[in-house]
Amino acid sequence: MDDSHVHSDCDTGPESKSFIPAGRPQNTVAERVEFRGRGMFHGIEATVVLLPAPADTGIVFRRSDLAGSPLIGASCEYVAREPRRTVLEAAEGVRIETVEHLMAALAGLHVDNCIVEINAPELPGFDGSCRPFCDEILAVGTVAIDAVVNSFVVDGIHTVQSADRAQTLVLRPYLYSCLAVTYHLDYGRHAPLLPQSMSAEISPEFFYAEISGARTFVLESEISMLRKMGYGGHLTARDIVIVGNDGIENNTLRWPDEAVRHKILDSVGDLALAGTPVYGHVTAYRSGHRLNQKLAGTITSLVKRQRFNRAMA
Ligand SMILES: [Zn+2]
Repeated sequence: MDDSHVHSDCDTGPESKSFIPAGRPQNTVAERVEFRGRGMFHGIEATVVLLPAPADTGIVFRRSDLAGSPLIGASCEYVAREPRRTVLEAAEGVRIETVEHLMAALAGLHVDNCIVEINAPELPGFDGSCRPFCDEILAVGTVAIDAVVNSFVVDGIHTVQSADRAQTLVLRPYLYSCLAVTYHLDYGRHAPLLPQSMSAEISPEFFYAEISGARTFVLESEISMLRKMGYGGHLTARDIVIVGNDGIENNTLRWPDEAVRHKILDSVGDLALAGTPVYGHVTAYRSGHRLNQKLAGTITSLVKRQRFNRAMA
């Protein structure tokens, strides 16, 4: 961890053996939570309802607007390849878009089990952060279930890279029973957004205070390309942080390093698609959704293999 490392009050558990239950009980939302808002990419109004769920349900989406109200598990096995966001697709037409910010809110606040009913194809974007999700969840609170989390304690070094090797994610063991993320954001020395780095241990308190309010951002040079693809036509510079050549357009940053904080938020949300709390340290160099999803897939494979080995031992 570098100088900006922040140690928060994670459960201590320096033993480095996989699948030691860290003692934390599984949680769900204490009662029904409802959100309404327009999706960031498609602009469609959505109503989302979070419902309590029993132990080992995980996070499961239900498209209440489609015939039969089909379910889509929040798992990397359903990830569909779409630019700039994370999309899950269980079958043709049965998809749920831009799941990463709600997934980050749930993982960051330790909500392990929840049914997410939604009557539209995309989750609300709100202000581009996941603070509105967190505020409503915290307003009703979470309740412990009589079962402990079956965490994945990282015991090796695992690296995933983009094909051009420009983006890298490295997962390593960590001293404490929590997820730690170090993110290095770097668009190059001549980019409008200067390089910035941050390290954080993702406790609910730290996540809420320092990460959940960080908004998504887009470079001005990317705007026209996204609009040509039909995305975000309803958004203005007041709704989304646009980084232009002369700085932030018609908006004020919440932190000087808000961009890297949002990258950590996205990482937490995408890695939650592994379906298992990860106790390890992720170091990210310029990673985006696709590479985060790839690491979530790697974690899923490691979890399956180690559970098999454990069962056979
Ligand atoms: Zn994001």
